[in-house]
Amino acid sequence: MEEIECIVAGAGVVGLAVARALALRGLDTILLERELAIGTGTSSRNSEVIHAGIYYPQGSLKARLCVRGKALLYAYCGERGLPHRRCGKLIVATSAAQEADLLALQGAGAANGVDDLLLLSADQARALEPALVCTAALASPSTGIVDSHALMLALQGDFESAGGMLAFGAPIESGECGPLGITLQVGGEQPMRIRTRLLVNCAGLHAQALAAALQGLPPQAVPPLHLAKGNYYSLARRAPFNRLIYPVPEPGGLGVHLTLDLAGQARFGPDVEWVDRLHYPVDPQRSAGFYASIRRYWPDLPDDALQPAYAGIRPKLSGPGEPARDFVIQGPAEHGVPGLVNLFGIESPGLTSCLAIAEAVAEGVQ
Ligand SMILES: Cc1cc2nc3c(=O)[nH]c(=O)nc-3n(C[C@H](O)[C@H](O)[C@H](O)COP(=O)(O)OP(=O)(O)OC[C@H]3O[C@@H](n4cnc5c(N)ncnc54)[C@H](O)[C@@H]3O)c2cc1C
Repeated sequence: MEEIECIVAGAGVVGLAVARALALRGLDTILLERELAIGTGTSSRNSEVIHAGIYYPQGSLKARLCVRGKALLYAYCGERGLPHRRCGKLIVATSAAQEADLLALQGAGAANGVDDLLLLSADQARALEPALVCTAALASPSTGIVDSHALMLALQGDFESAGGMLAFGAPIESGECGPLGITLQVGGEQPMRIRTRLLVNCAGLHAQALAAALQGLPPQAVPPLHLAKGNYYSLARRAPFNRLIYPVPEPGGLGVHLTLDLAGQARFGPDVEWVDRLHYPVDPQRSAGFYASIRRYWPDLPDDALQPAYAGIRPKLSGPGEPARDFVIQGPAEHGVPGLVNLFGIESPGLTSCLAIAEAVAEGVQ
């Protein structure tokens, strides 16, 4: 049987970043991906926003890893010449009641180390974005956008240059955790058994299924998975804004916001639709609710301007109506199995945080 120091499961942006960090620390690492390309999961179905780190409870992994990840990501994009733009965003209040929410967000951001947030009057906000209607806004200058595929290709390049090996069509089907390491059964066209000293489970929406297939891991260590689909609609005309525009957050998500891609194309979303399977088509009927939400801050949105675009699904650890849960990075101290690290609930801001998650995992295993 083959043996290897480290195996990372899943070549999304997090698995690629973790595999790169391990390989750069000199560990022999294989990255196993069940599909035939990198980033076919949630990493290709998101808003590509570099989040500032405003929304998350102080001291949470989401807060710490987002703020650290943002700094690492801007530096990495700069070093590697990756397409990105620090375009900034406005969070907008459309009623006096929501202005208190902006103040609370400013306080939450400051507690997380996001100290550049600026409260704007309606006139100041309109001076920046003339199409906007609001009663006040919170400006976040450090929010940006990134080409997530270019990022993943760069991470893959670093990983392979550092001696790492990436195998496609290689689903991990099951495993046994024992004193000599973790023995994995890998399927695909060339099935194999392979033993590793360290397994990092970065399987995203399938992280719970993979963990549950590992004999020796106590079942109670695997948290329940809830699926929250986020649908996007693109704007069939030139974007009226230069910055990202967000309403105040809603339960389960950040509200129907406007993001821009690097070509300046605008899209609205994601909303929150609780689902029970991985099913990505976007229902054109749902756009009815989008018009009403968007017109609160952009009343000039023309009829029929929204077209179904794409959807992503958040791997949530809490269900509808339950309080939001933090990222889970679960190592031997939490579950008792040597050499196993599970990442659960890596929803937003997972893209922003990928380099910081990788740093935390790599530091934790050395
Ligand atoms: C709608 C939406 C919008 C978002 N917007 C943002 C945003 O703007 N900014 C931000 O920072 N974050 C955002 N996120 C979060 C971000 O997209 C994710 O946190 C991130 O992409 C997760 O990456 P991952 O590598 O953990 O998962 P994935 O990209 O899903 O990768 C997991 C990989 O594991 C593979 N795999 C699964 N099972 C196995 C197995 N048994 N063996 C081998 N391989 C396996 C899969 O094929 C897949 O390639 C958003 C998420 C959603 C859903």
